[in-house]
Amino acid sequence: MAVTSDSTRIPLIAGNWKLNLDHLQSIAFVQKLAWTLQDAKLDFRKVEVAVFPPFTDIRSVQSLISADHYPLVFGSQDVSEHDSGAFTGEISGAFLKALDCSYAIVGHSERREYHHETNEQVGAKAAAAIRHGLVPVICVGETAEDLESRGPSAVPVEQLTIALAAVPKNADIVVAYEPVWAIGSGQAATPDQAEAVAAQLRLVVAEALGNDAAERTRILYGGSVKSGNIASFLREPNVDGALVGGASLVVDEFAKIARFQSHVGV
Ligand code: PEP
Repeated sequence: MAVTSDSTRIPLIAGNWKLNLDHLQSIAFVQKLAWTLQDAKLDFRKVEVAVFPPFTDIRSVQSLISADHYPLVFGSQDVSEHDSGAFTGEISGAFLKALDCSYAIVGHSERREYHHETNEQVGAKAAAAIRHGLVPVICVGETAEDLESRGPSAVPVEQLTIALAAVPKNADIVVAYEPVWAIGSGQAATPDQAEAVAAQLRLVVAEALGNDAAERTRILYGGSVKSGNIASFLREPNVDGALVGGASLVVDEFAKIARFQSHVGV
């Protein structure tokens, strides 16, 4: 099934804070980020900037963004596949929606590895997010061993195919292609490598959710993204943004990444 690249997809620059910044630090961070981007006259019609704080920060981030009308959005780093009930420690998509979250990351490789999340669970979490009006950011990516034994796209394609079996046709989703070997390693994939897998993943979305969904789904690259390499990824037709870990914790660096369109030659 042919899916063409569509320049109307607004790039998404997403900062995954992981287990960093408490609720007070989150307020200082978001304030400084908003001021930095506003001072730099970032055109928020051309790029969406999102932060993914720990759960305990979300209420603070919501209050600040809503009170000061910052053009930033936010989401959670995970969501329960369950809506309510006896699930100690879980967070419902309903609660996240009530705090104005736009997105929920599901299937980050750290959760797959440390919490043994399966592709089926990732699909159930994506479906739960959608049920509550959140857009799931579905993370997929191969380990160094997968790359060696199966090449770059087999595992991400398999992960996404299984997860999307639980997702309704035509749903709004974001996909993050994050080669595990590139996360936090300082060794990013090349733009060509990211593009090749992203193109395959778009075909998976087309097959599972339909061509319209595939055309509008943003596929992010993640793994050692910095201000110095972001523009090269965003030049690729199937790469529509970035999921940023380490570099999202430094305001000036994250702001430079969000301003990739102003980098020379873009
Ligand atoms: C991540 O963990 O999602 C990530 C991309 O991390 P980093 O940018 O630090 O490689």
